[in-house]
Amino acid sequence: MNTLLIATKNQGKVKEIKEILWDLPYLIKSLEELKIDVDVMEDGDTYEENALKKAEVALKISGIPTMADDSGLEIDALGGAPGIYSARFAGVHGDSLKNNNKVLELMKDIPYDKRSAKFVAAVVLLYPDGRKIVTRGEIDGYIANEPAGENGFGYDPLFYVPEYNKTFAELGENIKNKISHRGKALRALKEKLKIACSTN
Ligand code: IMP
Repeated sequence: MNTLLIATKNQGKVKEIKEILWDLPYLIKSLEELKIDVDVMEDGDTYEENALKKAEVALKISGIPTMADDSGLEIDALGGAPGIYSARFAGVHGDSLKNNNKVLELMKDIPYDKRSAKFVAAVVLLYPDGRKIVTRGEIDGYIANEPAGENGFGYDPLFYVPEYNKTFAELGENIKNKISHRGKALRALKEKLKIACSTN
């Protein structure tokens, strides 16, 4: 079976992506599993640009089909922030506790009906011959008044989904993967792959 590389160091993402892509005819490996160490400057203006950059850098090293995502939380009351800066909103890349505290502090006087937000994910799959598939997924929700739940990663304890009356961190991985921005982008990727395979 051919190997597909997931170009992320975020183990929360690796777990989700492997669970969603389990039925693809690929052996899915993370950067860590292939012992590839890359640092990519996420300086694009869009999620798609950043995802493409991560995939390009990792493909150059690995030489195998490589998938990368870039994602973020967009809060309406903060004019769409943190957006593409979600991972380093409080200054330190990947410090979820600091990021979440910063969001809660900025939102402390904002009432529920103005706490709307969405998660966005762009996914890019690149092949060594230059073929490229790009997809995007989004989910609407609200910023909770305080963190709740133990599952997931990043802003999950703050992202409240009214349809379930739970945060992403309370929902657990099965439901999160069914409804999440990343789940949607990855399922759209699978659909495009099916079409590409059936026309080859
Ligand atoms: P990047 O895509 O690795 O640049 O970073 C995205 C950042 O957005 C993560 O570090 C998280 O802070 C946040 N984020 C993206 N997707 C999720 C999610 O599904 N749950 C919680 N936080 C997320």
